[in-house]
Amino acid sequence: MLRTVIAATATLGLAAGCAPDTSAPVKVQALVLSSNGEYVPQEVELKTVTDIVGLKGTVADLHGGARIVYDSQDQDLQTATTPEAFANALLKGAGHDVKASYIDQDGILWPADFHTWNMVTAYYNLERAFDYFQNVGNIPAADFKDPVKTYYFPEFVIADIDKDPLVDNALYFSPMASFMVLPFDQLQRAPLAINAGIIAHEYSHRVFNLKAYNGAPFPEALSLWSSSSPSPGANILKSLDEGLADFHAYGTTCRSIKGCDTRFLGTSFEGEYAQIAANRDLAVTNRCMTAALRNQLLNQGLGEFSGKEYEVGTLIASALYQAGENTGQREVLMRSVVAAYNDSSPQTPGLYQLAQQNLNDQSRFTLAVAVGAIITHVTDLRLKEAVCNELMDHLQIPRDLLVGTPNPNLCPASSTPGTTCPALPTEG
Ligand SMILES: [Zn+2]
Repeated sequence: MLRTVIAATATLGLAAGCAPDTSAPVKVQALVLSSNGEYVPQEVELKTVTDIVGLKGTVADLHGGARIVYDSQDQDLQTATTPEAFANALLKGAGHDVKASYIDQDGILWPADFHTWNMVTAYYNLERAFDYFQNVGNIPAADFKDPVKTYYFPEFVIADIDKDPLVDNALYFSPMASFMVLPFDQLQRAPLAINAGIIAHEYSHRVFNLKAYNGAPFPEALSLWSSSSPSPGANILKSLDEGLADFHAYGTTCRSIKGCDTRFLGTSFEGEYAQIAANRDLAVTNRCMTAALRNQLLNQGLGEFSGKEYEVGTLIASALYQAGENTGQREVLMRSVVAAYNDSSPQTPGLYQLAQQNLNDQSRFTLAVAVGAIITHVTDLRLKEAVCNELMDHLQIPRDLLVGTPNPNLCPASSTPGTTCPALPTEG
C-alpha cells in the first residue's frame, strides 16, 4: 500500500511543498486503516496541532535525527545523579525539528513525501489515543502534562545488547518521558507509526506512567522491586502495563473507521511475525494461567521474566475484554481501568497507592491485590461480577482472595469463577 501512495504523491509532486497556515484544526490526508483492512489516504482533522510543518501541538512534538545511546559503561550515565542528568546523558545527538512538506489541494493538505505521510499519520494516531484517554478514560486535559517529545526515526542504540541502532519498534521511554518511532526494516506493510493500535499501545504506557507510576521517570516500586530476585511485584506491574496497553489500544480501535479490532497488531506483524499478533489477540477466549507461568511470575527476577509480561498481560487483557463485551459495557470498563491507576481514597486505593503501601514487601503486591484495584473501580454490579469471574478463571486467582467480607471485600458473593481454565493447585 505504501508503494502505491508514494507513486501517487510523486505524480502530484510537481507543486513545491508549501508552508501552510498552521492553526488547528487542520485538514490533512493521513494513512488510515479502511474497513477492508488496507491503509489508504483519508482526510482527517488534526485538532491539536499548532505547527503543521514542525508537527507540534498540545499532544506531541515530533523531533527528527536524534541519537540516543544507552551504554551501561557510559561515564556520563554512571555519574548522573538526577533523572534530568540521566536523560541528558542518553541524548548523544539532539537532532532537530521535523519539517513536513505538503501540497495544498482545495484546503486539504496532502503529504508530499513518504516521511510526511508517516509523520502526519503518527501525529494523528497520537491525537486519537489522547482523545480516547481524555473522553473514554476521563482524564482531564491538564493531567497529560506537556506535549510528548516524539523522536521520529532516531538512532537508538542499547550498546549492551547491540552496537547497531534498533529498528522496527515504537516505544514509550520513561527515562526521557518520550516516544520513539524507530526506522523500519522488516515491518514494511504497515510501519509501526502508521498502525494506530500500536501507537495507542505506546500512548497507554505513557498514561500508565503518569498515573500508576505517578509520572516518575524511574518508578519507585518498579526500580526497588526489580533490584532483587525474585521480583513478583515488579513482574506483576510490568504485566499490567503491557496487558492494559493492549486493552486500551483495542478500545481506540473501536472508535476508528475499521471498527473494533482485537488483533490490531496483525497489519504490522504478518508473515513470519504473525504469531506475535495471534498470541496477543484479545478475542481468544481460552487463554489460561499455567502452573509454569505462575511459577515464573512469582519466582523469577524481572530480567529473567522478560518477555513473559506479555503472556500474563494478555491473560489480563483478554479476561477484561470478555467481561466488557459480554455485559455490553466495554467503555465503562475501560474508564474503570483508568480510574484504578491512581486513587488516593483509602476505600478504593489505586495501583500506585497499593504499590506504595507494599514498597517494603513486594510479595504482598499479589495478582489478587493488583486486579483488586480494577475491581473496586467497577461500580456496576453485573460488570463487577463478570470482571471477577473472568479474572478468577483466566488468571486462576483463588476465589477466597477476592470474595468475602469484611476481607478482602473485592468481589460480590455471587461471583463464581468461570470454568474455561483447568483449576491450578492453590499457590503454596
Ligand atoms: Zn508495550
